[in-house]
Amino acid sequence: MTDRIVNFLKSVRPDGPCLVVDTEVVRDNYLRFQRAMPDSRIFYAVKANPAPQILALLAELGSSFDCASVQEIDMALAAGATAERISFGNTIKRERDVAAAHARGIALFAVDCEAEVDKVARAAPGAKVFCRILCDGEGAEWALSKKFGCEPQMAIEVLEHAHAAGLVAYGVSFHVGSQQKNPRAWDGALASAADIFRTLSYRGIELKMVNLGGGFATRYLEDIPGEGEYGRAINEAIRSHFGNRLPATIIEPGRGMVGNAGVIKTEVILVSQKAKDDIRWVYLDVGKFNGLAETMDEAIRYPIRSSREGEAVPCVLAGPTCDSVDVMYERTPYPLPINLEIGDELLIGGTGAYTTTYASVAFNGFPPLASYVI
Ligand code: PLP
Repeated sequence: MTDRIVNFLKSVRPDGPCLVVDTEVVRDNYLRFQRAMPDSRIFYAVKANPAPQILALLAELGSSFDCASVQEIDMALAAGATAERISFGNTIKRERDVAAAHARGIALFAVDCEAEVDKVARAAPGAKVFCRILCDGEGAEWALSKKFGCEPQMAIEVLEHAHAAGLVAYGVSFHVGSQQKNPRAWDGALASAADIFRTLSYRGIELKMVNLGGGFATRYLEDIPGEGEYGRAINEAIRSHFGNRLPATIIEPGRGMVGNAGVIKTEVILVSQKAKDDIRWVYLDVGKFNGLAETMDEAIRYPIRSSREGEAVPCVLAGPTCDSVDVMYERTPYPLPINLEIGDELLIGGTGAYTTTYASVAFNGFPPLASYVI
């Protein structure tokens, strides 16, 4: 929570719930990543928060962009990035979207199977492709599971197939799971990547790049490793697995770039109980459908601040919609001041990433989460 955000909320007093993002924090985060991993190119994961002011700031600082769709590619281009600074990092693309990206000059694509390679070969001939390998997401608060990537052994075939199809078999990517608080989590995937590099080298294909993905944590309620700790652990792992044949590397921070830059202002709509002496239920004007989707399975636990100083008592925290899944914390209730009242304002920290874009368009008639970038 920065003074700039506090002053903005005091002076502008926006009506209704909103996210406020402080670009000075984003700038700081970018520079910290750059210092911690000076040999890696930074591709900001646009999906975390595609606000035009954030993209423009990062483009000006020299960032590149990891995009999941043609729409995100257009946002990055509009923000001032050149096509050379954009990758189409989604392993699941419509062929006509690959063609649209190719027409815009994008030349770097993610794949994780031969069918996707075939699409890229047809729609973006000669492009560079990197193959994503599976990661178990162990230790991450928001694991990305089996949906993306293939077994390392299969990645060898996928990249050979790409080479044979006239593409540039460029490298290997992985994602160790989002909000990954263990800096050593990259080690196993880097060992697999080095094996793939070696095997393909024997077969005459020289890969160039390892995409280390995102995963860098932002601070919620618990301490997290600094960018420096991630940088040191990752560099050590790269050196131990690749020896002196170091690959080019890129990182794709999303949450770590913008998470701590944002605060959601929300209002308490109702405080009630289901029975006398039962736990208190606190209902807010934001919930799972208004930006707090990552409370699914209570995965992400945000810091919540009230100006009241009463004793903290456990509360079930729920959103405003008429859907019973719209409950953020119930299994592990959230401590809130006993004197919290209807109409009180709460500030939810660490909400710069994966909030505005996850908010529904009009569920129950509520508008999308308003966003101010200052
Ligand atoms: N890169 C890719 C391909 C992703 O899918 C994601 C997130 O889903 C990211 C980067 C950003 O990850 P994080 O927010 O953990 O940094």
